[in-house]
Amino acid sequence: MSYETAVEALIDVGGRLHDRGWLPATSGNLSVRLGDGSIAITVSGAHKGGLRESDLMRVNGEGRAIDDHRRPSAETLLHTQIYATFPEVGVVLHTHSVNATVISRLLGRSWEIDDLEILKAFPGIDTHESRVSVPVFDNDQDMVRLAGEVERHLHDGPPGYLIRGHGLYAWGADMDAAVRHLEAFEFLLQCELLTREVTRS
Ligand SMILES: [Zn+2]
Repeated sequence: MSYETAVEALIDVGGRLHDRGWLPATSGNLSVRLGDGSIAITVSGAHKGGLRESDLMRVNGEGRAIDDHRRPSAETLLHTQIYATFPEVGVVLHTHSVNATVISRLLGRSWEIDDLEILKAFPGIDTHESRVSVPVFDNDQDMVRLAGEVERHLHDGPPGYLIRGHGLYAWGADMDAAVRHLEAFEFLLQCELLTREVTRS
């Protein structure tokens, strides 16, 4: 994919995810891996509901700016880590929904999900009789330390993880797959919230 096509795709998905309430107040960041291995990513502080071309930049596989004086967001490291770990991944979406923020604070170090039809939205799962373990990491402003923590749990899980009191990372081979995985996680978070509400005595 060219940089120009990626910019268009990111502007479009930013608007769609913002409209669903998953990217409030300039939070989150979105990226696409380009054909040459570089990455198109939102700059920090950009409002995702109305992204412009100037809100996107290109970084290399290590997260350093290419032909750009701007500094990429510190969280760029978490994007490049996912691309480096999974050669098939083409899109990473990081959101800050209310449900991801609330539920992640109620969980331990992982979120165990089983017996739900929606799990089939994730790669390699073809029956509801499956168990998925989503890692939950403590929030940290030190991205190198956080990435080190993520590194230890990234390899065998579903295409996403939670950061406590912060948000969700989800990814996929292309934009459709990444959005599908993100929607599945958000659906599961809503189920988790409702289940906790109705079973509270
Ligand atoms: Zn974030």
